[in-house]
Amino acid sequence: MDPVGVAAAPEAGPGPAWQSKCPWGAPNTTSISCSLADVMSEQLAKELQLEEENAAFPEVVAVAEGPFITGENTDTSSDLMLAQMLQMEFDREYDAQLRREERKINGDSKVSISFENYRKVHPYDSDSSEDEVDWQDTRHDPYRADKPTTTPRKGFIGKGKDITTKHDEVVCGRKNTARMENFAPEFQVGDGIGMDLKLSNQVFNALKQHAYSEERRSARLHEKKEHSTAEKAVDPKTRLLLYKMVNAGMLETITGCISTGKESVVFHAYGGKLVYYFATEDKVMPPECAIKVFKTTLNEFKNRDKYIKDDYRFKDRFSKLNPRKIIRMWAEKEMHNLTRMQNAGIPCPQVVILKKHILVMSFIGQDQVPAPKLKDVTLSSEDMKKAYYQILNMMQQLYKECNLIHADLSEYNMLWHDRKVWLIDVSQSVEPTHPHGLEFLFRDCRNVSQFFQKGGVVEALNERELFNAVSGLNITADNEVDFQAEIEALEKMNEDHVQNHGKKLSMFPSDGDPPIFDE
Ligand code: ADP
Ligand code: MN
Repeated sequence: MDPVGVAAAPEAGPGPAWQSKCPWGAPNTTSISCSLADVMSEQLAKELQLEEENAAFPEVVAVAEGPFITGENTDTSSDLMLAQMLQMEFDREYDAQLRREERKINGDSKVSISFENYRKVHPYDSDSSEDEVDWQDTRHDPYRADKPTTTPRKGFIGKGKDITTKHDEVVCGRKNTARMENFAPEFQVGDGIGMDLKLSNQVFNALKQHAYSEERRSARLHEKKEHSTAEKAVDPKTRLLLYKMVNAGMLETITGCISTGKESVVFHAYGGKLVYYFATEDKVMPPECAIKVFKTTLNEFKNRDKYIKDDYRFKDRFSKLNPRKIIRMWAEKEMHNLTRMQNAGIPCPQVVILKKHILVMSFIGQDQVPAPKLKDVTLSSEDMKKAYYQILNMMQQLYKECNLIHADLSEYNMLWHDRKVWLIDVSQSVEPTHPHGLEFLFRDCRNVSQFFQKGGVVEALNERELFNAVSGLNITADNEVDFQAEIEALEKMNEDHVQNHGKKLSMFPSDGDPPIFDE
């Protein structure tokens, strides 16, 4: 690329960005000047080129028309897609063969050679690595009983002259290498993570800077794509996973997309003939399924940090995971929460299978038509009242029996089907002990009570009464500000309790019960 081209790249600020941002860039001595006209024309050229490319390769997956994926026809209309899918399969087989050869050559030898560099699929990119867990086994809800551990604050380990502080160069270097895992999934960090590589703070910080600016750049690119024709598309890897589900006979046909949100895309599918094994039972596929694909671009999930980071259920895992895995964790969380609800008899989709960031569940609706959201139906006053009492009941069950707070409850996430309300969208749901759990509950209560009061249900409790009715707490404040202050005080107390005792035992009279704030 010529210097002007580089300088005119989207990242360019006043000077050539690559020089200051890239850790290996030349020192900031020379600066390549370029006129505004150059920049303009370069941009224009790029745009034109892009247009041309788009015309040559019509967008990868538009799912609106016709069946999305079927058994016989896997959208052969897109040669590019097909080629990509074949290429992925080929690469994977190639790598597997390479691994076999590597093993054969090395045998038991103490000195081994590695074919790693010849692999097609970058290890960081691969979705077939050994550490993959599909979390399909709901017998163990990993979030349920884990006790929070308090980490020692002292900042050193060992005794006497063997003491190692957190500033130790080697320890620090290794830590820095490990921390590269936290960079965006798209950021290729090479094999360093697997090796005993010690990065100095200086190098690490430079890399971090670079990773973040790369992330921002790719976010912008992604945004552009989102607004273009690919709006309803999923990435090739997801498509391949979906394709495999159809191939395995689990799904008959994926008919199309029923919703595109910021964080997920939901598809409708007809269930296949497969009998599957779920939670120690044999089950047949539901006749119709909803497939929720959690978006694998990290950026949408950034603002969800507060749900997950403070959730003690995730504390140990959060720090160890790379962003790709965090996204899968949302899917995993939705699965476990739905299972808890199912066990309590709350009307909600039934989980079928979880595959990485893809959650297959039963479809609420009929003949491809999803049940309407509560906000979109006009109910008779009788049904409205019925719906209200049902929700009140469900909120209590959710809290007491499932030990959960929905945390995004509103007329948008309740479907009206078979003359009753169904709860959906529970990936963000938290346990009542979550540091902000009660605030989330209060917000849920506000949404619900406002909706039904506006809807003419005179019996509807106000948000504060509803909060007490659901939580079993007895907050007496008669105005919102004081009420909220009391909620926060309770949360604070709870948090201190966890900090001091380091155990949730004292808060949980028996496993799974909500906490009692009675001190
Ligand atoms: P998000 O709001 O995070 O994008 P949701 O889980 O709320 O994800 O799903 C988005 C939309 O997809 C819902 O509003 C609903 O219309 C539809 N949907 C989701 N799950 C199902 C299901 N199991 N059955 C029918 N429709 C569903
Ligand atoms: Mn939703």
